[in-house]
Amino acid sequence: MRTVGLKLEPHKYRCPKCGERFKTKKELESHVQLKHPPEEEQQEEEKTPEEHEV
Ligand SMILES: [Zn+2]
Repeated sequence: MRTVGLKLEPHKYRCPKCGERFKTKKELESHVQLKHPPEEEQQEEEKTPEEHEV
């Protein structure tokens, strides 16, 4: 049996947020920045102290 080269690794990097897979770390990183931007947090919406005019 031969040791399989690293070239045969299809999708090594997986997005922890949505499970999408990528071949390179760069792709994963750009995907995370695009799809899961760290600045976008839902908590902020609940914590908005601004007064809402109804
Ligand atoms: Zn993702």
